Amino acid sequence: MSSNKLPLLNCNPSPQDKVANKFSDAPPFVSHKAAKAHLRTIGAFLEISRQAGYSTSDSQNPSFIAFLSRAVARLEIWLEKVIGRTADRGPILAKELPPLDVAMALHSYMLSPRLFRDDAVGTYPQLKALLEFPWERLADLVDPATFRLNPTAESISHWTERTEVAFDPFEYGRSVGSAQLRCPNCSGACSISWSIFTRSAFTETCKQCGLSINRDALCVSKFLTTLREIQQGVRTNLRGVQLDDHAELVGTTQLVTRRILDLFPHTPGRQLTVSDLTSSDIATALEEVDAPRLSSANVSKVYSHPYTFSVDIPGLILHFQPLHELFWQSGWCSQAFLKGRSADLALDVAYSRYCSFLEICANDINYEATMPAKDADLFWHSHQLMSAKYKSDMNHYLHYFLDHVEVEVELDSDSDPGQNQGNSGGDSNGGPIIIMACCGGNCKTY
Ligand SMILES: [Zn+2]
Repeated sequence: MSSNKLPLLNCNPSPQDKVANKFSDAPPFVSHKAAKAHLRTIGAFLEISRQAGYSTSDSQNPSFIAFLSRAVARLEIWLEKVIGRTADRGPILAKELPPLDVAMALHSYMLSPRLFRDDAVGTYPQLKALLEFPWERLADLVDPATFRLNPTAESISHWTERTEVAFDPFEYGRSVGSAQLRCPNCSGACSISWSIFTRSAFTETCKQCGLSINRDALCVSKFLTTLREIQQGVRTNLRGVQLDDHAELVGTTQLVTRRILDLFPHTPGRQLTVSDLTSSDIATALEEVDAPRLSSANVSKVYSHPYTFSVDIPGLILHFQPLHELFWQSGWCSQAFLKGRSADLALDVAYSRYCSFLEICANDINYEATMPAKDADLFWHSHQLMSAKYKSDMNHYLHYFLDHVEVEVELDSDSDPGQNQGNSGGDSNGGPIIIMACCGGNCKTY
């Protein structure tokens, strides 16, 4: 593969080049300006990844994995303390722009557009304010030579006041040594090393109730939380299947709700606990129920990892790194390229390929057979980052909400050096875990 460079990707004939392109007559979904801002942001994500220990040859460096776990925790801090838990707040203010690690987590999160929107229903209502996140404004803060973020003094002080933790992710890592969890049984405080969630096998004994806390217990706990919310009328369906084909909230589905609750009958006065069932009990029950939506892949995706978000964000970040590396190595993130005429020519080709990809998707709802060319993928991703516009464009032009297709990627758990501080000892590395990820990385090409 000598011609790895993106401008040369045009040399790879794509089936999409042959498709008549009615979308090119529509107003552009994504401007060159937005695509260029995205490329600069991608450069910044790679730069901070390298600072955190990532390299092409050591893409799952343990320090980097721990950095990603912290980024997810800090995304939640930002959402709760800076953005605030309300669906109807105004747009994001300049002083509310997050640190770069948080932006990197948000970026991968938004590239699961359906689950991102699903989470805005009942789980994180403030995500609605991020449907128009100002990515271009964030890119303006990235130094085009060093790819480091130059945050404003105002945003640093606003973050520090609200969160009471360091704005700088590395300073945060030095001062906050481990993840703080709640025991899924007694809610007692429990701390686990940052790299722990990347392992399929870890055990930490709750100091208060003695529960053996492991990945499965955290996943079951996440599911039971949803069941309780359904019982309490906070939501009407499981996470991951709350939206219809147009990404609109499915109306009250009492039948489905009752079926879910019937699956896991509870004795009055006693709630199900994490000791009562395992993840595989849940998966089996959902497969058996006669309601296709319940056994949807999206449900199992939500409850197969311990993060409170529906998306396994660190897994997705790892998945997108090779694509981002390709943009970087091709020079597409550089100021010289972005300011030059060749950028506009290359982006014109890439955009027309994206339109062709959409044309294929519009004609065949079974779009999973189709993957966009990598340069077209830049526009697809950029479009998804404008979540409000993406949804209206999809519904208007495709007549359905095109989700980012998912494939399975294996994370090599051997790269974890045994940093777990639980009772499992140093030899309990566990097997490789499956991360649900979507196309855009090196998973599928034609
Ligand atoms: Zn406990």
